[in-house]
Amino acid sequence: MREIILIKYGEIILKGLNRSRFEDLLIGNIKKALPKDSFKSVRKSQAITYVEPDDGADVDDIIARLQKIFGIVFIARAGVFPKDMDVILKEGPEYLAPYMELVDTFKVEAKRSDKKFPFDSPAISREMGGAVLRRSRHLKVNVAEPGTIVRVEIRENEAYVYADIARVAGPGGMPTGSNGRATLLLSGGIDSPVAGYMLAKRGVELNAVHFFSPPYTSDLAKEKVIELGRILAGYTGKYSLYIVPFTEQQLAIRDNCPEEHLTLIMRRMMMMVAERLAKKSKSLALITGESLGQVASQTIHALGVTNEAVKDLPVFRPLVGMDKDEIVSVARKIGTFETSILPYEDCCTVFVPKHPTTKPVLGKVLQSQSKIDMEYWVNKAVDETEWVLIEG
Ligand code: ATP
Ligand code: MG
Repeated sequence: MREIILIKYGEIILKGLNRSRFEDLLIGNIKKALPKDSFKSVRKSQAITYVEPDDGADVDDIIARLQKIFGIVFIARAGVFPKDMDVILKEGPEYLAPYMELVDTFKVEAKRSDKKFPFDSPAISREMGGAVLRRSRHLKVNVAEPGTIVRVEIRENEAYVYADIARVAGPGGMPTGSNGRATLLLSGGIDSPVAGYMLAKRGVELNAVHFFSPPYTSDLAKEKVIELGRILAGYTGKYSLYIVPFTEQQLAIRDNCPEEHLTLIMRRMMMMVAERLAKKSKSLALITGESLGQVASQTIHALGVTNEAVKDLPVFRPLVGMDKDEIVSVARKIGTFETSILPYEDCCTVFVPKHPTTKPVLGKVLQSQSKIDMEYWVNKAVDETEWVLIEG
């Protein structure tokens, strides 16, 4: 029994004249996300995209991959039949039977794009309704509030039969690449992968920056960040991760600046390095996992001081108004949580001051910062950055 996969999208449809650009982007992303030998074609017709699996392909695996592609709202598998009403009425209800076990009531909606097909839509619906009732005897028809809708689509060359109950949700959002590129400051924590996911869902192509501090942070900590990056790449496709050695910078700050401002100066330096790397890679914004009030460096005063270090790019903080448990529930849903809680040290936790200020004043922080040559240390970090390609 051959099956085809139907994909529906939401917001893309609203984009008026841009719609076909969005659809083509989505189709390109789908082709990139599926193994090359798993599909015969990916094509669009009347606001639906169709993936035709190759003979013998693992349809469940294809659907699992599609469920991670931004822009897809739901995915339905449909049986493919010849355009012969006898065959459709005989084999269609058989194909649907396992799904129809899940409901008590249904109705049929038929569509034909081939107007020469000898049955019109009401006749197809009527005949199919009768055939489904004969095959699955527990069912009743309920036109007002059906448990599921059985759909019969008569196309140019073949007919598709499926039930809405068999469809699964995609992640929604907009296709990757439809909204420019941004640079995610990716730590090994719970928050930043979620922040990256949220912007990626809006169509933003990612790249990422990670600061590490050997030997204070181990290779395992670096591996963990790369693994988080890979999980995100399952949604976005491959992207660049810049790994910035940051030990000397942190030591210079620790040894020369007043203790109460250590974290803020370090965070300002991180933002400056990230902005340089972002510009080099044609990124249009920075993304962080900061959430208002979560720690001393994320009070409204501290965020203001950190933000001032970024000169030209907007900084997106999609978690700013979220509680930790809300962030955790997204982390679980997208599959980053279990990796994020692995117990490896982060470079920020290595040099934590005992008494950070929670109401820093920019002028005073700048004074503390003037004890070191920021420009020198930022340039050095950028020069020593390594590049890794992250693939899902
Ligand atoms: P996370 O859970 O994302 O680590 P956090 O609550 O631990 O965040 P901080 O450690 O203050 O908070 O970091 C705030 C944000 O700064 C992070 O969400 C991330 O975007 C960025 N950041 C922190 N540490 C690093 C790092 N080592 N490399 C890159 N970005 C970092
Ligand atoms: Mg952290």
